[in-house]
Amino acid sequence: MSVFRSISKTAVIILLLMTMLANPVKYNSRVFIYSLYKGFARASFTREYVDSHEAEDDEMRLLYEGKHSDFVKPVAYDVETAFDKLFEDFQYIPKDKVDIIIYPDYEEMSHIMALGSGSPALGAYYCGTIGIHDPKGAPVKQGLILHELTHYIIDYMTSGNVPAWFTEGAALYEEYRVYKREWAKSMDYSDFYSLKELEGDFYKLDEIKAYKESYLVVKYIVQNYGMEGVRKIIANFKEGDATHAAVKDALAIDADALFDKALESEKAK
Ligand SMILES: [Zn+2]
Repeated sequence: MSVFRSISKTAVIILLLMTMLANPVKYNSRVFIYSLYKGFARASFTREYVDSHEAEDDEMRLLYEGKHSDFVKPVAYDVETAFDKLFEDFQYIPKDKVDIIIYPDYEEMSHIMALGSGSPALGAYYCGTIGIHDPKGAPVKQGLILHELTHYIIDYMTSGNVPAWFTEGAALYEEYRVYKREWAKSMDYSDFYSLKELEGDFYKLDEIKAYKESYLVVKYIVQNYGMEGVRKIIANFKEGDATHAAVKDALAIDADALFDKALESEKAK
């Protein structure tokens, strides 16, 4: 697939850069390399869709194939609504328009957006771009754009230095806040993953449980420290902190203790 070819070319350039930039200013190099990679990957995605249709407004550029375009208006509306809601919470305005690609073929989206082996996703965020599997006449699922835009905003706010559980928890929290929909509400767990396990290979864990835990922790942070607590953690991630340092500085609590508190009432159910 040509996108992969151009990305692998990009990967070689990036590896060279990584070697050149290794060590002295490690974190800044990582941020630099990530934003460079993101820029290349994003350009590759959209280059692939050069013959597709394009719809553009102040906030987004939508690329899609095929004749029907019935989703353009609802998607534009969802993007506008989501950005309004996300601005209230994150107080962040993206510098660029967000690229959204409607993929007619799920396999193609899955490959290009590097989706894991979890349950099929209706949409995904990857490297500055949002992919949506063509709903083929049905409306785009409520909350999907809000969820993916939360990943987009957090990625840019942290320069990519963010653990998967945090961004997934925040995206699910936004779905709850705006649409009152709670992830795996009926699922009860007597135990959860440790923070260390969650920060291992997140996407290989039991998806429903790992996502529920992430959501509960972010919700706990918001309810006890406000969105300001979440924004402070994000600011610390941007400075290069790992979770323990970011949480300790923002909320004056140990991250493991925060997880215990956030999950104790859930475990007691
Ligand atoms: Zn997500």
